[in-house]
Amino acid sequence: MASVAVLSLLYAFSGTSQKDNYPVVQAQNVDLNLPIAPLLSYVPEQSQKSETQWQFVTVKKGQTLSSIFDDMDLSQSLLYKIIHSNKEAKKLTKIFPGAAIGFVKDANGKFEQLKYKLSETQELFVKQQDEQLITQVVVLPLETSIHNAKGTITGSLFNAGKAADLTDNMVMQLANIFAWDIDFILDIRSGDSFSLIYEKIEQDGEFIRDGKILAASFTNQGETFTAVAFDDGSGVSYYNPEGRNMKKAFLRAPLNFSYISSNFNPKRFHPVQKRVKAHRGIDYAAPRGTPIFAAGDGKVIRSSYSKYNGNHIFIKHPSGIVTKYLHLTKKYVKKGARVKQGKTIGTLGSTGMVTGPHLHYEFVLNGVHRNPRTVKLPKASPLKKSKMPEFKSYAGPILSQLDSINFDAKNIAQTKVAKTKSS
Ligand SMILES: [Zn+2]
Repeated sequence: MASVAVLSLLYAFSGTSQKDNYPVVQAQNVDLNLPIAPLLSYVPEQSQKSETQWQFVTVKKGQTLSSIFDDMDLSQSLLYKIIHSNKEAKKLTKIFPGAAIGFVKDANGKFEQLKYKLSETQELFVKQQDEQLITQVVVLPLETSIHNAKGTITGSLFNAGKAADLTDNMVMQLANIFAWDIDFILDIRSGDSFSLIYEKIEQDGEFIRDGKILAASFTNQGETFTAVAFDDGSGVSYYNPEGRNMKKAFLRAPLNFSYISSNFNPKRFHPVQKRVKAHRGIDYAAPRGTPIFAAGDGKVIRSSYSKYNGNHIFIKHPSGIVTKYLHLTKKYVKKGARVKQGKTIGTLGSTGMVTGPHLHYEFVLNGVHRNPRTVKLPKASPLKKSKMPEFKSYAGPILSQLDSINFDAKNIAQTKVAKTKSS
């Protein structure tokens, strides 16, 4: 034991003396493409000094780099030197409104440092060192963190999302997963609930943007739908717990629901049809200009105007199904065009015999009008048999995690009850 201790002590001493003999690397000699991080780590005390504080300038519309340097009381010759120091620094000339440039000046107002984010993961860093400019590109790694959220709808889905700390973009991602099962415009009710496990992309602890949803469930009017993100080898798709793709032949609501803001109250609109014939479709009251989607893959068999229907489009799909879209402001497809599900075919409007902007949507199966919200549609195809074991072993744990988000409180209560019983 004692000899080991002596040995390590010797090593420690020799290590120190060797380190002292290392040549001091001048900062100027550092390879320009090396990340700046190691250099910065040598000067933590300096960077924490109160006088070396970053001053950020946010680029305004029409502002030039030259005018920013003027505003900062920095010379044009310095700017020239910086942007000609190497090709990375030249990227500084491609500034855009909203971008931020950081500066550090010494007590006499002399330039010391500049930083500018070139991309999500790269930052240009310029430092004055004696008479030299050191220009480097710092790599800023992105980190993915995983979060849970759940919510219950009392007002709008977007408000419930906000209350659960979700961005509007994340709420849209959530709705898009279930767009084949739930009509997010007409079917959402107070008391509907959702839970999800999702990614956040962060940098240095700061939120950068949303990542993807890993698993989610949505309970709509008592019926629960569940989905898991899974890559079957051809990209990530969402699957139900049985391994069936969430994507089906028809979208429940053929319009972009994000256009219907939380302030929009469809009940205020009464798109009464001044028509003699019976109403055989669904009316979606929504703001004029809301994009209208093709509900499924098909071929445009009609794209025209009539006194009653206004601008209208009919699409023929496989299995004897025709979908009809009436009262559009704009039509983006012509007769004969082949369209994919989700393609924007026009925008919502109030052309024809109507009293307010809305989409009149019809779903016709073998010549018979059906309710598109309740018509039974063929199930989506399941994953390949060979992919099932992998899917099951991946989906199992994440789905039980999703369950635990929903039943957290309940589980704790049940555990307590169980413990009491067993004791
Ligand atoms: Zn109608």
